Order: sequence, then C-alpha cells, then structure tokens
Amino acid sequence: MFDTELYQQVLGLTAPWRVAEVKLDVESTQIHVHVEHGEGGLWPCPHCQKDLACYDHAPKRTWRHLNTCQFQTLVHARIPRVECAEHGVVQVKVPWAEPHGRFTLLMERFVIDVLQACRTVKGACALIGISWDQAWHVLERAVARGLSRKEAVEISRIGVDEKAFRKGHRYMTIVSDIDRGTVDFVSDGREKASLAAYFGSRTPKQLNAIKAMAMDMWEPYVQAALEAVPLASSKIVFDRFHIMKHMTEAVDVVRRRENRSLVADGDERLKRTKYLWIASRENVPPKRRAELRELRDTDLKTARAWAIKENLRHLWSYQVEGWARRFFNGWHAWAIRSRMEPVKAVARMMEGRLDNVITYCRHRITNAVAEGLNSKIMTIKRRAGGYRNPANFKTVIYFYCGGLRLHP
Ligand SMILES: [Zn+2]
Repeated sequence: MFDTELYQQVLGLTAPWRVAEVKLDVESTQIHVHVEHGEGGLWPCPHCQKDLACYDHAPKRTWRHLNTCQFQTLVHARIPRVECAEHGVVQVKVPWAEPHGRFTLLMERFVIDVLQACRTVKGACALIGISWDQAWHVLERAVARGLSRKEAVEISRIGVDEKAFRKGHRYMTIVSDIDRGTVDFVSDGREKASLAAYFGSRTPKQLNAIKAMAMDMWEPYVQAALEAVPLASSKIVFDRFHIMKHMTEAVDVVRRRENRSLVADGDERLKRTKYLWIASRENVPPKRRAELRELRDTDLKTARAWAIKENLRHLWSYQVEGWARRFFNGWHAWAIRSRMEPVKAVARMMEGRLDNVITYCRHRITNAVAEGLNSKIMTIKRRAGGYRNPANFKTVIYFYCGGLRLHP
C-alpha cells in the first residue's frame, strides 16, 4: 500500500540499506518504516574504518522521523555489529541517524530549527509533538556537536560579563565575541579562576590576537586578564555603561536623601522625580522636560549631582587620550568639591582606574553586546521557567547564543 521506493528516497537510503516494508497504522496514526540491509557485505568499524563482516545484530531500534502526511513516522532497524580486533564488538554507523540519536538526521535538524525559532524547549515540544526529554536530548547533542566543531578562531575583541544565576546567589562568567555578537565561553562563578579558565582554553596565538577586552571594574577579572593576555594593561577597557550605572546610582542616593529631608519640611519638589534624574537627558519624555528644566535650575543638591552625571558622559566622546584625561581632571575636581559623598565615591573609583577607562579612546568598545546577549539569555531563562541546574543553563546559552554549527 505504501511505496517502499518512496521511503527509501525520503530517508536517502542507498545499498546495502533498503526499505523492506512500510506499514500504516490508522488507529495510532503512525507509519512504520522497516529498514533492512542486504546480506554478505562488509561494514566499516566506526572507529578505524576497517572493513569487517557482520558479526551479529544489536536489538531492534526505533527512530522518529519527520511526520509524513501528519502521521508520526517511525523507522525500525537492527544495526549490524562488527568485531574489530582493536575496538571489540561495535555497532556500525547508519546513514540516517547519529550513533546515539533517537531521531533520524532530518528529524533532528528539524527539531533544532524549531527550538531555535521558538526559543523555548516547551514551545518546540508542543509544536512537534515530542517530549521535553527528547527535545532536550537533541539540544544537548547539538551543543556538544557545535562545541566539538569549534575551530581555534582568533577573537580580537572580547566582552567579559557576569551573570547572576538564580536571584543573585550564584554567578556565571560570560565571555562574548564583540564582533560576532556571540557567547564564546561560559564558566561558573565570577572569580579570577572563572575568567582564567577561558584564557586557559586559548592557544598562545589566540591570546596574542586579543586586542581589547571590555569588562566591569572587577578586580578578579582584571587579575586574570593581566596574567594571561600579553600587554593586557593597555587592552582592558572598563565598560562605560557600568561606570555610568554607578554614577546614576549615586545621583539617586543623593535624591533619596534630599527628598527625605525636604519632605520633613513639607517640600515635595523631589517626589516622583526619580526617572527625570536617572535617565539620560535626551531620554526624558517630552512632556516632562519642562519639569526637569525647572528643577535643575534650582539649588537642589540633586540638580547638581545630575549635572555632574550628565557632564561625565562627555568623557567618552574624546578621540585622544590626552584630551580625555584633561577633561576627566576638570570633572573630577568638580565632583570632589561637590560635598556629596556618593558622587565623590564614583570620582575616586574612576581616578584609581582611569588608565583603563580612557583606553576607550583607542578601542571604542563597551559591553553593550554582552548586555544584549544578557537580555536574550534572561528571556530564554524566563520562558523556560528557569534552569535549576547551572550545567543545563550553560547548555542553553551555548545553544541560543553560541553561534555554533549545531546541525548534524
Ligand atoms: Zn576498529
């Protein structure tokens, strides 16, 4: 009733493999494709390729294939085993599936595509009609395949970022390739060893090829980079967004304190103004700009802190390090004179690390790519309902953000 020839073509089978029988089971809406091989041929050992006679057969196995006409399609076969003098009794490779796959190659490719498109394991399961375990198995194998195919490419600009896993109790270190926009490496923790593990996995040539590294002002990372990367001190660029975040937080601390003392005197000018001060000037919504203009021309401490914050942004517009340094000196003096402790703290933090702030003039990199990847990772994590196990979470990051060649 079903064309064995047709299924032979669908599965791409060539001699000695052939489709022996195709059975349609209307009740279970399944199509069973029974595959056999001809007698007497030789089979290569999967490890050394030596041609050997069939020794015996492994028990019958089943692989799920792409549906045909909305019927679940299952391929059944017994895989020959050969006895290799060197490798013992082993199963030979079959052309339609990978050694430990539960799906045919085409099905596996399809599952990978759907997983990529829906961004969630659960969603893919519902669409394809497979179990979570089956989908996960494909995903895990795809990542292992992708990682094993990875060549020692030279990455010239990397971003190092930490990611809180499970509400800040645990961290992961994520190294991204700024130019490709992919995650190159994930490791546990945010210690020196976390980043050292990345550098340890690189060849000397790859380490030499690193021209610039964007990272937060986080001493363990700095130490790891200084130890592993030649001339690291001229290549580390402290992320400007991270610095501006500190500055913005300082403005907010000033505002909260000032608001408290104003409210005590019945002055409510600073109530509900948080966003006006922390947003970058151009991001304040047009309908609130008049409000900001009015407030910032007063003698409020918050207004001064805000002006210092907005002014600091100019630091990253200089092309020449000498000019950036000169600008910073002026800004720093202003911030220190401000008599606002949170603002002074940021100025001091930057002063001690200025060399690697103004390396930005030369390298012009930020962790924005890493941050973009971060939000992608968070979305994946949220949609998947969180990954209890950090190893699984890592696998998912590689699957969605690794830029790997995943298909069999
Ligand atoms: Zn062998």
